[in-house]
Parts: sequence; structure tokens; C-alpha cells
Amino acid sequence: MRLVIVGNGPGGVELARLLAGEFDVTVVEKENIPHYSKPMLSHYIAGFIPEEKLFPYSMNWYEKKGINLLLGTEAKLIDRSRKVLVTDKGEVPYDILVMATGARAREPVIPGGEHILTLRTLKDARLIRGRLEEEGEITILGGGFIALELAGNLSKAGYTVRLVHRRKTLLGLDGELSGIIKEKLEDVGVEFHLETGALGADEDGLKTDKGYIKGRLKVCAFGVVPNKELALRSGIHTGRGILVDDHFRTSARNVYAIGDCAELNGTIEGTAKGAVEQAKVLARILKGTDESYKPFRSAFFKFADFSVALIGRTKGKGEWLDESAKVFREGDKTVGAVVMGNIKKAFRLEKVIKGGLP
Ligand code: FAD
Repeated sequence: MRLVIVGNGPGGVELARLLAGEFDVTVVEKENIPHYSKPMLSHYIAGFIPEEKLFPYSMNWYEKKGINLLLGTEAKLIDRSRKVLVTDKGEVPYDILVMATGARAREPVIPGGEHILTLRTLKDARLIRGRLEEEGEITILGGGFIALELAGNLSKAGYTVRLVHRRKTLLGLDGELSGIIKEKLEDVGVEFHLETGALGADEDGLKTDKGYIKGRLKVCAFGVVPNKELALRSGIHTGRGILVDDHFRTSARNVYAIGDCAELNGTIEGTAKGAVEQAKVLARILKGTDESYKPFRSAFFKFADFSVALIGRTKGKGEWLDESAKVFREGDKTVGAVVMGNIKKAFRLEKVIKGGLP
């Protein structure tokens, strides 16, 4: 059975790892480097780890696993009638095709947006790292986990960090939880500009609705755009992402999608943890297990040295279990939790909430 996976991010590489040996696996990747860790990019930019630490698998690993890795190769079209993937380097026949094409950073659409960098790839990270060495300071736009990880690490590394976010709270959390995260990041030196909308940028700074913020290096880290173009060009149904059912099936026979590109019941998980979990479930489905995927949002982050876990539904009125965990209930069931500074407790609560226990 020929399994062709488009994309070598955490979703694609995990699926390849799990199915190599049982399937004849080919991974098609447009970047020219083996798989690297995106969650570690801000640690690399901060200078905490050398570049080689970003790569969990060597080229030798792919070879040993028998995975045919086609780097620097962009998938252009799925020719469903002939069951071939058309790439810029030629055609790859498949029996099963999985799109794990991920997402790209959202570009700022404001005048002077060309003066603002984005962060998604190692190439972006190298550029930001180089500019940071020249400037010694950075303005980050966004209040999601990528913005907070970057802000925390760079501040901890001694750079001057300003974070500009148009909303009142961080990570979409309530004021109390957001306030705690803000305080922890302020403790390491991050300067916050909340409820501040960016209106434009020039070489020297950022124009906002609260005034001009000086700083030549600006990085936009608010949100991602799913890479659905391959599906669109191939006549496969898309919404915000590539539409899949709870078996990761797309509208085309023998074509699946997982990770940041896949939209299930209106949701795109948007985390490496989610992409890996989806790859695990799809691997079992492709091996013949009768299983379906039940989306469950759970993400663990580290902002400077402060860990934050978002588990399940984290909206509405929560109550504190103790000083590190706020839980959210529906009736007598705990449906979500935010756990701060206690990873062990986060794992325990994740199990309880996922298992639907009270
Ligand atoms: P991606 O990782 O986006 O991989 C998709 C791959 O497909 C890419 O390599 C791309 O080049 C390739 N591709 C796309 N189109 C084509 C094509 N047509 N032909 C060939 N190849 C193609 N998540 C967490 O869980 N925890 C974190 O702490 C965390 N921190 C992050 C920090 C940063 C700076 C960033 C950028 C992301 C972070 N994330 C984190 C999010 C996480 O990295 C993503 O959710 C995850 O990478 C999604 O995996 P994926 O396999 O779906 O897609």
C-alpha cells in the first residue's frame, strides 16, 4: 500500500513514523530541511538552544525507518482519477494520501505591514534572531500562545520586549487568569500594551490607536491561516481549513487531512499536541481499527519559566480548585481547566476531564 503524506510537520512525521514498515511511506515536503520543532523556535531565537537541537530526527532516521522523504518538493495537485500527487518535481502515485500541510502565519494587513516579520518557520526564526542581535529589542503583536512564548523567552534572555495586543485579555481567558499570566511575564520584564490596536508600521516603529511605539524589530504572532490550497485546487471541500469527518476523511476517496490544515466540526485544533494526537488516531484507523476521533482541546505551554495548561473548555465562570488550577463545570461535570505552574496536576486533570469523570 503506497501512503503519501504531504507535509513533514509534527502531524505528517508522526503518521510516517507510526506507519513506516506497514505501508510504503513517502513524505513530500516543500521545505528543504528535515522535521524540526516549531514549539522550540522561540527558545532558539532567545539563544537558549543551538539550531541542531530543533531537529529530533536525522536524515539517517528517515532512511532507517524506510521513509522516502522528498524534500524541497511542493505538492501542486491531487489527480484523483489517476491517483497521483502532482508535484513541482514530478508525479507520486498513491493508494492513500494524507494532507498534513499545516498552516502559515497570518500577515498583518495594515499600512507598512512589510516592516513587520512573522514567525512560523526556521527561516523566519533565523531572520528574527539575526535582527534581534542587531536591535536588542522587539515589539510583538498578538496575545496568543506563540506571542507569549516568544515574549517570555526573549525577555528572560535579556532583550527589551513589548507586547501589543488589541484585546483586554491574553489567550482568550478571563480577566483573572489573564492577569496572572501578565504579572508572571511582567516579572521577567515584558512590557504590555493591551487594548491597543495596530494601525500602521514604518521602519522605526508601530502606529497604534494609543500612540506610536518605537522599535525597529516588529514580529506579528497573531493567528494562522490553514494551508488548504492543495485541496482547493484538487476540488476537495474546504471551509476555513480542509473539511474532514471524525475519521479524517475529506470529500475525496482515499484522501485524508490532519493537523493545522484540517477542520472538523468547525474546529481547527492549531497545536502540535493536537496534530500528533490526530496522527496517532489516523494511524490506527488506517491499520484497520474501528475508531473515530473525538476532538479534545488540550495544550501545554511555557511562558518564560511559567507553565500554563489549557484543558478542554476554558470559557465561562470557573472556580479555583486550589492556587494552581481553575476548573470550569457544566452541571456536576468538570469540562475544562486552566492549570498554572504545575504540569503534574495538568496531566492529572487532563485525564479526568477527557475521561468525562466528575
Ligand atoms: P505544520 O507544522 O505547519 O507542518 C506542515 C508542513 O507542510 C510544513 O513543513 C510545510 O512546509 C508543508 N507543506 C505545506 N504545504 C505543502 C505543499 N503544498 N507541498 C509540500 N509541503 C507542504 N504547539 C503546541 O502544541 N505547543 C507549543 O508550545 C507551540 N508553540 C509554537 C511556537 C511557534 C513559534 C509556532 C510557529 C508554533 C507553535 N505551536 C505550538 C503550534 C504547532 O507548531 C503547530 O500547531 C503544528 O506545527 C501543526 O502541525 P502540522 O503538522 O499540522 O503542520
